[in-house]
Amino acid sequence: MRTVLVHNAAPARPLQPLIPQFSPRELGEPVLEIVSYDLRLDVDFAKARVNGKVGVTVKGAAKPFALDASQLSVNRVTVNGRPARFVFDEKRAKLKIPGVPARQSLVELEYSKQVSDDVIFGLYKSKYGKDYILATDLEPAEARTVFPCVDEPGYKAVFRLQVTTEDGLDVIGNTPWIRKEGAGGGRATFTFQETPRMSTYLLFFAIGRFEETKVTADGIDVLAATRPGQAQNCRVALEIAAESLSEYQRYFGIPYPLKKLHIVALPEYHTGAMENWGAISSRESYALITEHTSFTQKNRGAMSMVHEVAHQWFGDLVTMKWWDDLWLNESFATFMSYKMTGRLRPDWEMWGIFLRDEGFHALNLDALSTTHPVQGRVRNVAEAMHTFDAISYGKGACVLRMLEAYVGEEAFRKGVSDYLKRFSFSNASGKDLWDALGRASGLPVTKVAKEWLTKPGYPVVTVTARRGKIELSQSRFTLSGRKATGVWPIPISLRADGSERSAFLDSKNGNIEARAERELLLNLERTGFYATLYDGAGYGRLARNFSRIGPHDRAGIMYDLYLFLQAGLVKPELYASFVALCGANPDAMSTQIVTEQLMQLTAIADESHIIKGVEPEFYPPLLDAFGQEPRPGEPPYVGATREYLTSQYASVDESYARKMASLFEHFAALDSNLKAAAAIGYAITYGARAEKRLQEMAKTLQGEVDRANIYEGLCAFKEPELVEHTLELCMSGQVSRSDSGYPLFLSAYNPYARVALWNWITKRYDAMRDMYAGSQQFYLYMGRAIPMCGVEREAEVRRFLSGKRFKEGGSSVTRILELLHINARLRKRLLESRN
Ligand SMILES: [Zn+2]
Repeated sequence: MRTVLVHNAAPARPLQPLIPQFSPRELGEPVLEIVSYDLRLDVDFAKARVNGKVGVTVKGAAKPFALDASQLSVNRVTVNGRPARFVFDEKRAKLKIPGVPARQSLVELEYSKQVSDDVIFGLYKSKYGKDYILATDLEPAEARTVFPCVDEPGYKAVFRLQVTTEDGLDVIGNTPWIRKEGAGGGRATFTFQETPRMSTYLLFFAIGRFEETKVTADGIDVLAATRPGQAQNCRVALEIAAESLSEYQRYFGIPYPLKKLHIVALPEYHTGAMENWGAISSRESYALITEHTSFTQKNRGAMSMVHEVAHQWFGDLVTMKWWDDLWLNESFATFMSYKMTGRLRPDWEMWGIFLRDEGFHALNLDALSTTHPVQGRVRNVAEAMHTFDAISYGKGACVLRMLEAYVGEEAFRKGVSDYLKRFSFSNASGKDLWDALGRASGLPVTKVAKEWLTKPGYPVVTVTARRGKIELSQSRFTLSGRKATGVWPIPISLRADGSERSAFLDSKNGNIEARAERELLLNLERTGFYATLYDGAGYGRLARNFSRIGPHDRAGIMYDLYLFLQAGLVKPELYASFVALCGANPDAMSTQIVTEQLMQLTAIADESHIIKGVEPEFYPPLLDAFGQEPRPGEPPYVGATREYLTSQYASVDESYARKMASLFEHFAALDSNLKAAAAIGYAITYGARAEKRLQEMAKTLQGEVDRANIYEGLCAFKEPELVEHTLELCMSGQVSRSDSGYPLFLSAYNPYARVALWNWITKRYDAMRDMYAGSQQFYLYMGRAIPMCGVEREAEVRRFLSGKRFKEGGSSVTRILELLHINARLRKRLLESRN
């Protein structure tokens, strides 16, 4: 369940430290067009060695003509059949070829590449047991490490791929293969159908032993490819991918442009999934989900599929001109994945999950002084990767939801469809989309979008009801409490004494004539990206009406209170009184959100009387309400809520932990939503006696989802040295590389491990960083762990980080220190409050 936060890590894309920073070519001047790539790869699978030949058809070459290339040995270049001179500058990752005429030319290159054992992107070995799959993962700038190319999203081209490798292996590409011929010496050649025009980062191929399952969607083959023995486990992911494919065809009003769509489950994978056109690659825990998988995991896997299928149009068919619109690509797919999954699985409560996983997380980060506008200037690829973090994606998705509510669902759909039709097989920018939405709705979308996207932060709306008037006032909200300015155009919705109203607040203050004596609630269904601060009378009204307030609105109230608690705008007692109200008024979404909040508060101030005091009013009544055991026919999110409650309550209450420990004996057969709690209970109850068995399971269990539950246990020990063993385990090479982040991430929530985790980070910082070299994940984990485990030693953390420099994975040293300071201040306030 805690891996819900890992989910937010999913947008993080790899960084290639060996690649210098790239800037966009000047599009259009001089006119350079890549028509096609003829890519012939001769792959020695056993040695993981590639001999490649690529024919690049170029129109109107720039002078001097240069291709992007890195980590390749280029042996020979010809231009229009004649040998040509070339200069390969590995440091700049450029291959310069003088003398390419400015008409259509064919530039052919012969090269070789040795696939490194250490990388987990580009062309890499995705290992399982003693075997592996050779697979590509090329976003944003890794295509150049596989073949020389113009590796920018604006340079779309047609790809003709041919792969020769050992007979008996399968090869999967973006398109179906149209020919398989013997190539002599026990080898075979696969020739793939030519792709439509597409960007280099969307190219995909994988070579290995696969098992396939197939369904069809409106006549299109949708296939899941897994390593042998896993095909039966991909049914859930495959089905929702196929259903969403059909549904998107209708929603966008554009047929899916390829002949087939693959879901390729890769045993080692360093992010969530990737939208390669026609061949989505995915980590196994997202693709291998079954009816028995816990709802949280199932939901995450299914949504990830629906997200990547949305990209097949938004991202693949129409692609951003340059990486500065990466946020739009991701925000749109994120927003659509909730919308579409909600449509296909109405009982999954998708908008509640949207608030929990996207909206609230973005509100927290966007209230830091280290925030940034969603849309900013991006000079190069590395900068784009740094800038686009949970703020960009989460807030971006929230702004899209707010715009949809503003223009209406049908105008939104029409605008998106017009945009996609107009720029099919080509590139576009954010402005093109806003203009299309504006045309479809007749509203000033470009202007409103610009205000929300180019300004950092968001407003808090302060609301007071007085003498038949509702007075509203907006200012920028900051967690530090620092004064900040800013006025946003806010579509306001509210309910006062039973009647619903809407208004548009685009100045600092505004009034609405309405009586609100019994009831006043703003931001209905939480479609607006702003927080609402009520006065004392306002919170009194909300408390009295709490049982009648809907789940999304309750979740919103709890979230705003949590923000204000961190900022010191409300007293811990007020927050705790609303936690108790949630305990007395069970609903799934606010239960999950408050459980997450309590988890964070326990991590930084478990000794607080006010937090300890409210636990009995929250967990036991809700466990009674949602039940300790699955009930036949219950909605799926009830099971998920049980997972939240049982695992967190087992972490904070020893007698409950003992009860859960007794379930661990039957771990394999246990209901998936109870597995985390059983592992946590087992670890807490048996301590060192539980360690060996849990470690063994982390090493040997086949499913990543089950292993994630085991790590919950391994990080929950109350003996700090045992947590340290878990952290060491992830560095030992004995566990799958997909798992190595779990311990660092999960142990941050264990207050008993606070000191041990901090000491371990200081000791193993360099080794961890090296282990993750080239990926943002390390910084992302640091960004989570340090603000929590460093909460009692702010000065020491400051000293430790003072020489360190990073700005990856949405974390920077300044942001970590700011979060740490906010947590330390909150800890102090919580410890001072007596209940
Ligand atoms: Zn995406």
